[in-house]
Amino acid sequence: MSGLKLRNVRKSFGTLEVIKGVDLDIEDKQFVVFVGPSGCGKSTLLRMIAGLEEITSGELTIGEKRMNDVDPAQRGIAMVFQSYALYPHMTVRENMGFALRFAGKPKDEIARRVEEAARILELGALLDRKPGQLSGGQRQRVAIGRAIVRHPDVFLFDEPLSNLDAELRVHMRIELARLHKELQTTIIYVTHDQVEAMTLADKIVVLRDGLVEQDGTPLELYDDPSNHFVAGFIGSPK
Ligand code: ADP
Ligand code: MG
Repeated sequence: MSGLKLRNVRKSFGTLEVIKGVDLDIEDKQFVVFVGPSGCGKSTLLRMIAGLEEITSGELTIGEKRMNDVDPAQRGIAMVFQSYALYPHMTVRENMGFALRFAGKPKDEIARRVEEAARILELGALLDRKPGQLSGGQRQRVAIGRAIVRHPDVFLFDEPLSNLDAELRVHMRIELARLHKELQTTIIYVTHDQVEAMTLADKIVVLRDGLVEQDGTPLELYDDPSNHFVAGFIGSPK
């Protein structure tokens, strides 16, 4: 990869335009956080990057390659959802290997990648358990593991911690920061949690009604929010 770019990206559902011309530059290995009120288009934007939602107009590129019409499985992007449905009848090992098996990867390669993800996520002791025998935090780690085994260039997270209790959220936030360091990949992360945004992000993108209101480092937005709306989201006193 060498950078992910959005140029005048728009999305309409019927006559309703929900993404209204977004320009964005994301560098390799950046941890980018999207924040903004409910309904402003965060999930839609993420789903368009993942290829789960068609781009109505504008351009998505990764490196020099136009991605608009590339199959989701070929984009080098893996998405972790808020409601991470694991297969209840499969073990952790099988859950993590499933997509690779589906893609026809050889058995030893799958085993190696699952072991690697389990080490990174400290799930090694739990590989033979089923989801019903795991805590919420452990299940969330398995969901992340399913993305890691695919060795994506870009991870997309859509409010991955919002179903966890406060204590676990703090723990997982630290885990995510460590994960980003270890994997050295690009992460785009949606949250409505100001503390998550401020502590995890290299770059925060504040969205409002289908547009980028402001983007910058946490410090830039905190010190110099362009208006009250941004200040409110960042928790800046301005
Ligand atoms: P956020 O994730 O920021 O809460 P969403 O991206 O889910 O916002 O939604 C943005 C807007 O697009 C909302 O008004 C929502 O109702 C609308 N929307 C999302 N998906 C669809 C869809 N499949 N069909 C019609 N409208 C949609
Ligand atoms: Mg959403």
